[in-house]
Amino acid sequence: MLVLEYKAVVKKSQSTAIDEAIRTSQFVRNKVLRYWIDNRGIGKKELYQYNTQLRAEFDFVKDLNSHACQASVENVERAIKRFFDNCKNKKPGKKGYPRFKKDSRSVEYKTSGWKLHPSKRRITFSDKKGIGELKLLGKWDIHTYPIELIKRVRIVRRESSGYYVQFCVKVDAIQEPRTGDSEVGLDVGLEYFYSDSNGYHQENPRFLRKAEKAIKHPQRRIYSKEKGKNNRRKASWRYARKHLKVSRQREEHAKRIARNVCKANAFVAYEELNVRGLVRNRRLAKSISDVAWNSFRRWLEYFAVKFNTQVVAVPPHYTSQKCSSCGNIVKKGLSTRTHTCKCGCVLQRDVNAAINILCKAKSTTGQVGSNAWGVGTSTLLGATQAHASCDVEPRIPRLIAVGSVNKDKMVKPESIKAANRP
Ligand SMILES: [Zn+2]
Repeated sequence: MLVLEYKAVVKKSQSTAIDEAIRTSQFVRNKVLRYWIDNRGIGKKELYQYNTQLRAEFDFVKDLNSHACQASVENVERAIKRFFDNCKNKKPGKKGYPRFKKDSRSVEYKTSGWKLHPSKRRITFSDKKGIGELKLLGKWDIHTYPIELIKRVRIVRRESSGYYVQFCVKVDAIQEPRTGDSEVGLDVGLEYFYSDSNGYHQENPRFLRKAEKAIKHPQRRIYSKEKGKNNRRKASWRYARKHLKVSRQREEHAKRIARNVCKANAFVAYEELNVRGLVRNRRLAKSISDVAWNSFRRWLEYFAVKFNTQVVAVPPHYTSQKCSSCGNIVKKGLSTRTHTCKCGCVLQRDVNAAINILCKAKSTTGQVGSNAWGVGTSTLLGATQAHASCDVEPRIPRLIAVGSVNKDKMVKPESIKAANRP
């Protein structure tokens, strides 16, 4: 499935209609879910029958295209299946019991209820919700695909940026081959986005810091406008847009880097970090949020499946202190950027850590046996292990060490040493 997304030009009356359609689809979804919860053991058929019943009972449900209602039922079905699958596979942690939706942001149509304009730059929704014709903005080529291949049309609402129309086109994903079969360990940090075990450093772009000035200005403008007035709302919208841009840049960057890494390597090891816990450290919060490790990790997992790369997370445990060549613990001051060991091993600090991460990942997967080489599940394996030993080494001080670039904002060495003591 390929998803093409367009920005929709929407009039005020149309946005009301779209919101109404989204609300209806959420209503159907929640009702059907409630029905399933109240009548345990019922199957697909009953869920669809109940949907028909809802359409007879409520006029506003009937106004929504019948296939769009079905799509909501399918959504529940998928959620139920996911839950049962998780139970069956004994997934660690929460099993994802289907939940009610509170703020749905999309409505999904199937192959009816909409029509593309011959130019394929406009789409008309023909059900009784009254959405009508929407103009589509975007550079994707929906016109190159035959209309029968469009299996789904989704309208998505995004706060602060408006409405989008997504087309799900049924084409086989182009399988891209991996370009390399090497193994690599990654040490993420604040100085560099990551340093790998081959000695390569990926620069950290720091989008928020770069955009800081451009953001500060609209932020101040908000407070100069009178409370509760339209101008204030507009000003805060402008401010939100700036942040949206930064978060998109970050996401794109993390995605690109993760893709490159997975494409070039058969085995990728990284250090499991509790980013949430780290962000609570107020002095570093901004820098840490700005590097987007979480999305980097998500994208690593995503591309791992795509390129058939094994991605493993290892628990942080003396990865920076241990010598990667002889295994001795070499205590380093936090400002020491080079790892120098008695055995003659001299490496950049993060590179030493990256090599340790790689070795550790290889030894863990070795213990688990061939099962660990399955795609996708490997990360989960690492994650559980990370929890088991997460209190071995205090993690925040290590990160401060990595973030030597923001020296002015750094904690004084004394206080770090104090924090490092158990
Ligand atoms: Zn050594």
